[in-house]
Amino acid sequence: MTLALANLIDGRLQPPRDGAYLEVFEPATATVFARCPDSGAADVEAAVAAAAHAAPGWAATPASERARLLDRLADLIESDLESFALLESRDSGKPVALARSLDIPRAVANLRFFAAAITQWASEAHPMDGRALNVTLHQPLGVVACISPWNLPLYLLTWKIAPALAAGNTVVAKPSEVTPCTAARLAAAAITAGFPPGVLNIVHGHGAGVGQALVEHARVKAISFTGSTRTGARIAAAAAPHFKKLSLELGGKNPAIVFDDAELSDADLDTIVRSGFANQGEICLCGSRLLVQRSIYDAFKARYLERVQRLRVGDPQEAGSDLGALVSKAHFDKVISCIERARGEGGKLLCGGGPVAVEGRCAHGWFVAPTVIEGLSNCALTNQEEIFGPVVSLIPFTDESEAIALANASGYGLAASLWTRDLKRAHRLAAALEFGIVWINCWLLRDLRTPFGGVKHSGVGREGGLDALRFFTDAKNLCFDLS
Ligand code: NAD
Repeated sequence: MTLALANLIDGRLQPPRDGAYLEVFEPATATVFARCPDSGAADVEAAVAAAAHAAPGWAATPASERARLLDRLADLIESDLESFALLESRDSGKPVALARSLDIPRAVANLRFFAAAITQWASEAHPMDGRALNVTLHQPLGVVACISPWNLPLYLLTWKIAPALAAGNTVVAKPSEVTPCTAARLAAAAITAGFPPGVLNIVHGHGAGVGQALVEHARVKAISFTGSTRTGARIAAAAAPHFKKLSLELGGKNPAIVFDDAELSDADLDTIVRSGFANQGEICLCGSRLLVQRSIYDAFKARYLERVQRLRVGDPQEAGSDLGALVSKAHFDKVISCIERARGEGGKLLCGGGPVAVEGRCAHGWFVAPTVIEGLSNCALTNQEEIFGPVVSLIPFTDESEAIALANASGYGLAASLWTRDLKRAHRLAAALEFGIVWINCWLLRDLRTPFGGVKHSGVGREGGLDALRFFTDAKNLCFDLS
């Protein structure tokens, strides 16, 4: 039986106004398992109107009450963690073990973090030596749009709606049409939690329809977007004439840099493997360019490949599966064509290189083998364009300056990871690397208080901690004359 999803508008689950639906696929079986509203302009209009109506009341609601409702929503998700995890896995193709250990707990943490943060947020005062006192207010913007991608569906949706709601805004959220299921379940939980009607609205549908209509809507004051660089550019162009606030978290082509003094333990190696292949490589932070110092290249390659070849691709519902299916047929075709392109560019495939046939219920699923390539220059398209799949390219370097030059020779600048035991070298490199995040001897270690975001074509603005609260508010300075 297919699941029928609904929009959340004005506190009620509603079908799309013109009755149109999209098919939602289970990537592991290539079958339709849900129907999601293919909403249109009338649904967006209704959601924005409900959000605008609710905005003054929500902005005036004490922070402690906003926090209580966010905590309540977190409790509801946590108490239903297993079914959220199963749904996320079915919808996206990721191993259920990953959804259970990463995606859903992180969604809970996002809600709890911003619930706590808003009750602790203070504003600044700037006294002028007895002449005047300046006090800064951080006021909510009104109606904001949160647009999220398919790779970490509930994780990234909550990463946006939690600070937006905590700061006193009302929200119209647009989850990815490829993975809408956990957002629909979140909508039901938000009603149970007791959010006032119109405070959180979730409208499903295509980016070009619902997303674009939201971005262009005159009453939407800010857009928090995570997705591809191409869509980010389109959103920036549409929002610019209206001077809307924009936070854009976009693509990446991240380097992992391994020096000959890294003294890699088995656990370090596992982290480096994970940094390439976690979530089938469908994480914007995955290191798809693995830069390795020439003096250890062959020895590292042997240890690395031995581990990559041990990764199991299989039914996402089975405990032993390290990688599940890619999210859609279109994305599967894209990744396979990128591997073909790498061959065409002269790359040598060290392992993987194509689809994986999984037996049983997943026989028609969209599975791709973990693939490692070598022999391509950093300028090759394989090393310049985001693939967003289980594909890692090995690139040797000679010394520190070449490592920096290669790492920075990219249109993207999201995250880099650095493996060395030399603290001074780590400081030098971290300062020189043109990335928003640099991990030193680790990867994906996240503290929600820290600024998150990229430079160059990886985005504009920072999420996380106070940066997110500042984004979702306008600073207003009050100046009291004391003379
Ligand atoms: P996408 O850009 O295709 O879609 C993202 C969202 O935008 C979806 O909800 C989509 O419906 C919507 N959208 C599409 N066109 C729109 C338009 N014209 N106006 C408004 N909304 C529109 O991205 P995707 O394929 O879902 O996600 C993968 C991409 O996301 C990768 O490039 C990845 O690197 C990036 N990503 C970045 C981060 C980060 O934090 N920097 C995190 C996760 C994913």
